[in-house]
Amino acid sequence: MAFSIRNHHLWRDGRSVEAVKARYDSGPFARTPKILVVHFTGGSSGRSSAEWFRAPDNTAKSSAHLVIDRDGSVIQCVDFDTAANHAGRSSWRDLSGLNQHAFGIELANWGDLYPYADGWYSEAGVRIANPFMGVHKNGNPHGGAQPIGWEPYPEIQFAALVEIVQRLVATYGIDEIVGHDDVAPTRKWDPGPAFNMARLRYEVFGDRAGDGDVTRTVMPVSGLNLRRGPGTAFDTIRLLPQGTVVRPLEQNGLWLSVSVLDAAGEPVDTGWVHGAYLSP
Ligand SMILES: [Zn+2]
Repeated sequence: MAFSIRNHHLWRDGRSVEAVKARYDSGPFARTPKILVVHFTGGSSGRSSAEWFRAPDNTAKSSAHLVIDRDGSVIQCVDFDTAANHAGRSSWRDLSGLNQHAFGIELANWGDLYPYADGWYSEAGVRIANPFMGVHKNGNPHGGAQPIGWEPYPEIQFAALVEIVQRLVATYGIDEIVGHDDVAPTRKWDPGPAFNMARLRYEVFGDRAGDGDVTRTVMPVSGLNLRRGPGTAFDTIRLLPQGTVVRPLEQNGLWLSVSVLDAAGEPVDTGWVHGAYLSP
């Protein structure tokens, strides 16, 4: 295991990860958080965001526990025994003010992009060559129902997040992962549709519903498209041949988030399929 947690600080390969202490936090947690909130930074690099958290002109007084850069490198800005200022006005179930109830991890990512003649650009004018095209589940940030470009999350960044969250679960007993866009809907858009929340939950918690033996099979002779989101507006990842076995993870209307299994029953892919084309 590359990551470990000692004294409320993250270690990697036996060394403490770099600390860039945030200027602002909300003091010690009254009780250990059981929730993780995932964010994107909207910034150019993990370092730039960590530097912003300690800048005197950070008038929003924002901070987060960790920033994970696109290359998977990690900076810790707030210790895990202290509440960071990442969620703002927010609520989830019977809780409000998630800063006091949740850890916050920021992923370096521009988020929603802007269309120009030659492609999709970040707010800061950085061209993103292969954007994820998708519609935000709460509606797009600037309106419209058509898919827009979002910066993809690199696998190395996602893999670092998975392992870190596994350590947070083991150390603090986190039992729920949400997006900023879940706890502050229509005010915040992170981590957005390019982030595979179903996959993160599955990789961290496995199949908590205990119905892991329930698998379903692709029925049509012509196969079934595995897509990046619950609808035909989302990109196709690949065509699943007839007979492919999948394990449902979550449901959104008629669409199912599934884990695609290989012949040995091991998960090899995740995505969304239309449930009507699976064996019952
Ligand atoms: Zn956020």
